[in-house]
Amino acid sequence: MIKTAFAVTAFFLAAMAAAPMAEAAPCLIVTLTGTQGGPPAFNGLAGAGTLVRYGDDSNNCGAVKLQFDAGRGTNMRLSQVGVTPVQLNAIFFTHMHSDHTEGFADIMQLRWHRKGPKVDVVCSSDAVSPLGFTISCKKFVLHIGDPFIQSGEIAQRHSEDKGRLPGGPAELANVITFEPKDEPQVVWSSGDVKVSAIRSYHIAGHASYRVDTPAGGVVIGGDASNDVLAPPRATSTSDQFEKLAKGADIIVHSATHPVLGPESGLPQDNFNRQSSALDLGAMAKRVGAKYLMLTHLSPPIGDDLAGDRRVPGGPLTEAAYRKAVEMSGFTGIIVVGTDLASVRLPAK
Ligand SMILES: [Zn+2]
Repeated sequence: MIKTAFAVTAFFLAAMAAAPMAEAAPCLIVTLTGTQGGPPAFNGLAGAGTLVRYGDDSNNCGAVKLQFDAGRGTNMRLSQVGVTPVQLNAIFFTHMHSDHTEGFADIMQLRWHRKGPKVDVVCSSDAVSPLGFTISCKKFVLHIGDPFIQSGEIAQRHSEDKGRLPGGPAELANVITFEPKDEPQVVWSSGDVKVSAIRSYHIAGHASYRVDTPAGGVVIGGDASNDVLAPPRATSTSDQFEKLAKGADIIVHSATHPVLGPESGLPQDNFNRQSSALDLGAMAKRVGAKYLMLTHLSPPIGDDLAGDRRVPGGPLTEAAYRKAVEMSGFTGIIVVGTDLASVRLPAK
């Protein structure tokens, strides 16, 4: 009898120990919050950005919410997946181009309006160009509320609710800058989540990021290209980014299509400063990634123009981008980015 009671008790203890573990399986969701390639507006696409959510089954992978870049319309896309600006734990920037940053004012103004807590904003330290200008994420962040201060709105809303900080949206930003290096460095962490950065080229101060969690790892390239800016070169992708991406499950990267990219033989303008879908496929294969998510597509799907240039052969399709990656021999899962495309680890 005693023996049986002990066995039953042991059984229930084991079951109790097992149940929470099964419920609390760690998970990661990567969502493209905007896939427009470059500054133009086309067909309602939001500007570049990626939301990374991590947690477990009990919180729908949402304990930690990290936003990488915040192009036009980021807030709109976040609202479609139920994420408010107040809920973001940190915002990271790959570089200071408006197609990656102009949604930030919207996020910060609303966060301030709602009296949200401070938020970490992580980016490169000031980069001085030999051409005489300085790229400064820090100044961008610290002046993000200036138009709303100048218009009088900050003072007016503060007078209505003294819980709002008198200095406006910038007062909510905890700016964390780092010097991008050719080796990965940890730039932010919280609990099980670690974010590393590496230097990559597009403009001065460009950085790419990697998020590691117990559910898997994702690398976010931004607009990275090879340091060698024009052919002949082995690849249009970044050697440093490839180092950062080794062993990651998911690659998120801006992509050009070979019809206009460095393989086309056409004058390249901005395309040499991006990575082509073909070369990204080859890199994803080399580093053993399971997923390749193309974003910031140049040219956008369905657009007959790339900047001021007509796309040879007419507008591209999703299949055209997929085919370009497949030509590389990459056999993992290809996601040709549309706004709100998501990958979950582990897959459901
Ligand atoms: Zn861009």
